[in-house]
Amino acid sequence: MSEAPKFIFECQKTGRCCYLRDPIKIYDIDLARWWTDGSFGTVFPHLKLHLTEALVPNEIKIEKTILQENEKRPDEDKFDSVCPLLNRDTKECTIYSTRPITCKAFPLGYNGENFIIRDLECPGIDKGIMTTERLKTVRTAAKREYTSNNRTMTLLPAIHSLIMKELTELAMKEAEAQKRTDISDSE
Ligand code: SF4
Repeated sequence: MSEAPKFIFECQKTGRCCYLRDPIKIYDIDLARWWTDGSFGTVFPHLKLHLTEALVPNEIKIEKTILQENEKRPDEDKFDSVCPLLNRDTKECTIYSTRPITCKAFPLGYNGENFIIRDLECPGIDKGIMTTERLKTVRTAAKREYTSNNRTMTLLPAIHSLIMKELTELAMKEAEAQKRTDISDSE
C-alpha cells in the first residue's frame, strides 16, 4: 500500500503568498528558463541584484512594490507590499506558467534533510486532494530550489555581468532611438 501524503495543499488563489513573502528569491534555473522562453524582458525590470561591497555573490530577488496607504485596496489592509508580477485585481500571477521555482514550491520548502511548511497559515493547506503526482511535483520544486541556491551564488558574478551587458545594450538602443527621433523632429 502506498504511503498517504502528509502535505495536502491546493492553492486558493488569494494571492497571500505574493503579498507576504518578501522579496522573492530568484535562482539560476529561473533566469535560464526566462531567457529561453522569452519572459526575461517582463521580469527583468523587477529584478534586483543584492551584492556585497566586494561584489561577493549574494542574491537576486524580485523587489516588492510598497503599498502606500492611499493606493491600498480594502482587501490589502494587512499587507505592506506586493509582488509587482501579481495582477492585484484577479490575484493571479502574470507569469504563472513560468513563475519562479520558489513560487512553484510554496508553501513547501526543503532544508537539505526535511520538507518544511513555510507558511502554516496559507489558506491552501489541507485543502483539495493531494495526489501522489502533485505531491511529487511540489516536492521536486522545493528540492530544486534548495539545490539551486548554492549554485546561483557561485554563478552570480557571471549573471551580474550578463545583466549589466543587457542593461548597457538596452540603454544604447534607447539612446539610438532617441537620437533618431531628435533628427526626424528637426527635419
Ligand atoms: S512571481 Fe507570481 S507567484 Fe511569485 S510572488 Fe510574484 S505574483 Fe506571486
